[in-house]
Amino acid sequence: MANRTPLMAGNWKMNLDHIEAIATVQKLAWTLTDAKHDFEDAEAVVLVPFTDLRSVQTLVDGDKLGVKYGAQDVSKHKSGAYTGEISVSMLAKLGVAYCAVGHSERREYHGETDALVNDKVRALAAEGITAIVCVGEPLEIRKAGNHVPFTVDSLKGSLANLSPAELAHVVVAYEPVWAIGTGEVATPEDAQEVIGAIREALAKMYGPEVAATTRVLYGGSVKSSNVAEIMAKPDIDGALVGGASLDPQEFAKIVRFKDHIV
Ligand code: PEP
Repeated sequence: MANRTPLMAGNWKMNLDHIEAIATVQKLAWTLTDAKHDFEDAEAVVLVPFTDLRSVQTLVDGDKLGVKYGAQDVSKHKSGAYTGEISVSMLAKLGVAYCAVGHSERREYHGETDALVNDKVRALAAEGITAIVCVGEPLEIRKAGNHVPFTVDSLKGSLANLSPAELAHVVVAYEPVWAIGTGEVATPEDAQEVIGAIREALAKMYGPEVAATTRVLYGGSVKSSNVAEIMAKPDIDGALVGGASLDPQEFAKIVRFKDHIV
């Protein structure tokens, strides 16, 4: 894992209202601070619904919690007549550190393309927010054996023509679509195969230093029972966690992946 700080990001999706968010973040933060070094061993991030952000900000700032928080999507536009959208500067005002972009559910249900993801990455970097850029293949591509070129192509489009300053605000998440919310986990070897290829592609696109410093996460049915074996792979720097992140005790165990190493 070189010197890359592990990152565990919980994607709550459309779950937990702002009252439930307060209770969940409190439980998570209290569980983690019970033990020493939790927040040094891994960054713990929750990606919450927009309507939860202000409450989570107030809690985290007020109680000086070690948990970080972020959003699940953002507009590429700065402001204006885009009904229903949320701008990067609105997120920045709420102290958001991370924002997922190009999640497969956004790509599938909202037609998001790599070009749009690229615009969002630039817009976020301009305000100092780190994009968690999701890429990964659907089942039919995996069955045809084309998962590596498919994912690398999507990565190239999503991260095209970024400056060093923009790249400093990028985390990549490899999420095979067939493993999201299905209980079907890619084996650690499957995940390492694609994430290794992502790192090679980053080296070709932007040089060895960017490849060595950019964090690449795995996502798809990660739980406390499988996180340690996934994290044991050399190119995997953390996890993007959906369902299991809704339970603060379970998510805390995932953040403490080092406890489960046998
Ligand atoms: C996700 O939503 O990004 C995800 C990986 O979900 P799950 O952990 O539930 O598969």
